[in-house]
Amino acid sequence: MSSNIPSDTHFSDEATPQDSVKDLVPKSGFGLHDEVWSEKQWFELIRTLVGYGIGTWQEFAALILGHLNPSQTGTSLASSEGFKRRYGKGNTMRIVMEWAYSQTGQCGDCGSRLELQADHIKGKAQFEDQLDADYIENMTLLCRRCNVIRRTSHKLGGQTYLTAESALMWILFVIKPRTLVDYCRLCRIYGMTMSDIRMQEAWAMAHWLSRNDPPLFGIEDDSKTHYDLIQWSSGSITRADVGTTLPNGAVRVYERVPGDHCLTFVAMGNDRRKKLYSYPMHWIALSTYDLGDLPPYALAIRYTPPDRKKGKPQRITLHAPANMTLLSHKLVAPDEKLVFQRADDLLGRERVEAPPSTNKGVLLSKSFQNLDFTLEIETVRTP
Ligand SMILES: [Zn+2]
Repeated sequence: MSSNIPSDTHFSDEATPQDSVKDLVPKSGFGLHDEVWSEKQWFELIRTLVGYGIGTWQEFAALILGHLNPSQTGTSLASSEGFKRRYGKGNTMRIVMEWAYSQTGQCGDCGSRLELQADHIKGKAQFEDQLDADYIENMTLLCRRCNVIRRTSHKLGGQTYLTAESALMWILFVIKPRTLVDYCRLCRIYGMTMSDIRMQEAWAMAHWLSRNDPPLFGIEDDSKTHYDLIQWSSGSITRADVGTTLPNGAVRVYERVPGDHCLTFVAMGNDRRKKLYSYPMHWIALSTYDLGDLPPYALAIRYTPPDRKKGKPQRITLHAPANMTLLSHKLVAPDEKLVFQRADDLLGRERVEAPPSTNKGVLLSKSFQNLDFTLEIETVRTP
């Protein structure tokens, strides 16, 4: 995840997760993925949205009716240069409409009747003169989604049921992320590759619903809350509500940590290099969501966006200290600073101020890489 995601501002008139309606959407082992949802769960979702006044049946029905309308499937073809060239301007609309009426009215790939668009069976790119692709026998109806995921720019598309714009809301309503950072992580795990700004925009819904009466959403007020810090068998560290029962293999590293503290630690990777990390509490993933098959620490990840120019896919990597050796750790309060205390037979004990650390980690200087030195971290109150 890019580190430029701002920490979410909490407004005083907004609800926290504890204040909000817990069963906005029925939970029954759905996990993160919508493709395994039953018709009953979809029904319950819409019914609940109506029940809480998020929309009326009339509004939702109007939306569906609009998407059933095969708007412009004919005119988009009739107005294309290739069709006009082949059939003559006066004939094109009649030929196109005869074709349209003779169709089944369902997406050629998935069978949907919603958002149908005319699409070329044999793509334009396969023709030397692209206008030659425009002939009526080469046309089929596809829904918008199936049409879009055929494009080469959407290689990873179609692996889930919903489009990205719908999934943004599905994740918000169903998983109910408590922070914007976790919301972005959920979207990444879901498979979204668009820029963070899309999630930040969608997150506005969380703010709006948290002001509803009763509150339909809760946004974590990190700095006013305490957390237990948990380390999992993967090495990943997450935060959870104070006193949470831990599953096997998970260890409570700290209890009742104020949300304005930083977790600072030194960890060593497989290359035996030591790095210093500092995680503000609001940046540490919560492990309190129902993620189905995914482990509770699934959100302890960092995200690197895809490089579309170089054709590199997005990269999701686990946060340190996953798959690393955690050497030492300390909590740092806002009015504290970190120093290294270097123990050495020749030099005695020496204090060295810690370099500014980030959530990406800072490689320690050579003297601290030397394994003969004992590394300690201690916090010192500034005067
Ligand atoms: Zn389709």
